[in-house]
Order: sequence, then structure tokens, then C-alpha cells
Amino acid sequence: MPNSNIILVGPPGAGKGTQAIMLREKLDAHYISTGDLFRSHLSNETELGKQAQTYMNAGELVPDTLTINMLSEELEKKDGSQGFILDGFPRNVAQAEALSKLLEDKQLKIDVVLFFNVPTDELVRRLSTRFTCRICQAPANLNDTESHSSSSCPQCGGELYQRPDDAPEAIKRRLDVYEEETKPILDYYDTQRLLTEIDSIGSINEVFEKVAGAL
Ligand code: AMP
Repeated sequence: MPNSNIILVGPPGAGKGTQAIMLREKLDAHYISTGDLFRSHLSNETELGKQAQTYMNAGELVPDTLTINMLSEELEKKDGSQGFILDGFPRNVAQAEALSKLLEDKQLKIDVVLFFNVPTDELVRRLSTRFTCRICQAPANLNDTESHSSSSCPQCGGELYQRPDDAPEAIKRRLDVYEEETKPILDYYDTQRLLTEIDSIGSINEVFEKVAGAL
């Protein structure tokens, strides 16, 4: 499905980031992760990064106006014929509505919304063993015998660190925010017949086969 416009939705830890990287390579699409963009603003110490930091560290959503403006600017960078993959946006119904409006103005449309479904106990397990690459931001899950200081990013070899929002308190808050604010967008897209559910238990490659089959 080349040139498709795809949205990835799911709770934190559902594997969206990992699948997005594989999908981007397969489709040569313009990949936008609002979480990655905020983290890059944070490490570059921009004004937006400073505004977003407290929300992010607490596991809260960054206010809509900041997030939607950032997304809108990022969409402008897409090549005309290139499709896009959105990872982590929209995160609530107001953002979903703003996106519909933005795309309408650009005469673009969403082709499919993939919902990565994983039970909560598995999400907590994945998030608490998750490390992130300082360079390419790819996520890596380490097992009990691996330490992040002696392991490196499987994608680029970069240094791994634990995101502050992968600490236990923030994980709990992010899961609550997902339930309260993000879940309602599933109905929003289901009503538009755009939603496809991906059962995301299984190996990375097994889940990717389901993703590829759904496109
Ligand atoms: P993520 O990497 O997608 O888990 O995002 C990390 C953090 O960035 C989230 O917990 C939020 O604080 C912030 N963030 C990312 N995307 C959004 C969004 N669409 N709306 C509001 N905040 C966001």
C-alpha cells in the first residue's frame, strides 16, 4: 500500500514505535512521532522543549495547541506524493478533529488507523524493561540478564537510557491518561470505518506480519 496515510494508535508500550520503524522502511513514508519530536526539542533545549518537559516527565499530555502546531509544521515537510505514518498523534478527540481539519485543508485523507491492542499487565512489563536510544530514539526491551549500560541500540549501536516517563509512577499515569483521553478516539475512527485492530501479543515479526496483512 504505497503512499498510504496511516495512523498508529495504542497504549504506551504496545509496540507502535517498533512497528512504525519497520513500516517506514517498507513504505518509504514520512514518519512523524510527536513523542520523538518533543524529546528532540527537550534535548535541544528549545522553548517548546522547556514547555513540554514537565508534562512529559509526569506522564501527562502536552497541551493541544502546542502539540497541534508542532504536528502541522511537521506535515509541511512531507514530499508531495509521499504517504505519512503518524505515531502518538492524535492522543485525544480534540486532536483527532484538528487533524481531520488539517488534512482536509491539504486535500489529504487517512487511509487506515491501526489499533495495537495489548493487555495492561503486559504493557506494564514491557514499559518497565524498556530502554530508548539516545541517538535514533528506537525502543529496546532488555531481559532480566541484560543491563542497559553494557547493551547498545539494536538499530544504530547508540547508548541506551531509561526515559523518565518509563519510571513506575509515570507509567501508571500514562496508562490512565490513555484510558481516559486516548481511548475515545477509537470510536471516533471506528465510526468513520477506518479502524483496524492488531492483536499485538507475539514477537515483533509476528506482529509486523499482521500489520502488513492489514494494509
Ligand atoms: P510517546 O513517545 O508517544 O510515548 O510520548 C511521550 C510523551 O510526549 C507523552 O507522554 C506526552 O507527554 C507527550 N506527547 C507525545 N505525543 C503527544 C500528543 N499527541 N499530545 C500530547 N502530548 C504528547
